[in-house]
Amino acid sequence: MKYFDLHCDTLWECYEMRKNLRENDLFIDKSKIAGFEEYVQFFALFCGARPPQPIPGRRALLDLPEEQRLGAMLDTAREQFSRNRDWLYQCFSAEDLQSPDRRGRAAAFLSIEGAELLCSEEHLRRAYDAGVRMVTLSWNGRNRYACGAATDNDEGLSQAGKALVRRLVGMGVILDVSHLSDAGFWDVCVETEAPFAASHSNSRTVCPHCRNLTDLQFSEMVRRGGLVGLNLYNNFLRDDGQRATLTDAVRHIEHFCALGGQDILAIGADFDGCEALPEGFSTVADITRLAEELRRLGYPQSTIDGLFYANAGRFIERML
Ligand SMILES: [Zn+2]
Repeated sequence: MKYFDLHCDTLWECYEMRKNLRENDLFIDKSKIAGFEEYVQFFALFCGARPPQPIPGRRALLDLPEEQRLGAMLDTAREQFSRNRDWLYQCFSAEDLQSPDRRGRAAAFLSIEGAELLCSEEHLRRAYDAGVRMVTLSWNGRNRYACGAATDNDEGLSQAGKALVRRLVGMGVILDVSHLSDAGFWDVCVETEAPFAASHSNSRTVCPHCRNLTDLQFSEMVRRGGLVGLNLYNNFLRDDGQRATLTDAVRHIEHFCALGGQDILAIGADFDGCEALPEGFSTVADITRLAEELRRLGYPQSTIDGLFYANAGRFIERML
């Protein structure tokens, strides 16, 4: 099958735990993606959290001065993409996806998770030149631009945040509202008419977690022709402490489709960025199980193709 995924934190694991994209015990590496007919992945440069088991002697991203963190993550991306260029090709535009130079290799785009990595205009330039094409305005905390839903859902964008929204849209970088507070979401809608993404967020009606999108937010994204990536993190799929199953993922898909969103739905599984996925998920290859489940439930093949690849592909073509 063809698979286009909007969000993973594998590069952060590579930085923090000194792992390699070629072969590792993470969700994504060369052999794990080998079964896909086509594979496109947005790799996030993450602003940093405390690693659960830090490597002794390794300086955690959060221990670096703030202005050095973007550089550290960009170095990691550059090094990993360069060491793995026999199977992974970095894209800077939608055109690159179709380029004959790619020769059937998997495709990688870069994104930023947590705009606190962007300490200055010079950082923004550097990120863009290195290929960053999607940016979440916040992670869970508060930064100079915005506040995360996990900190205060009523706190909107700062003046710097509003300026960053206009700047990113002007540069042709996709805004990503995953993690952003509700107030920040609506501030984005005031600042720009551009379509935007929620790379890894689910439905708050189905699972009432602050990280998920309300029906009103999702409907606004449908109106704009945005893109929403379904997140497979257990606690965003169900909130009763039980282990999530494929059925829970399907409930979110059903609900979004009922809101008229079947053409803006994609997957942003959050591989290597969350602690627990539904039963039976141990690598990216297991995403085929969700496709099989949808087929078993009688979803049309066109809907399945849209969800796993075509909707994201179309959005990228329009935006990049
Ligand atoms: Zn995230």
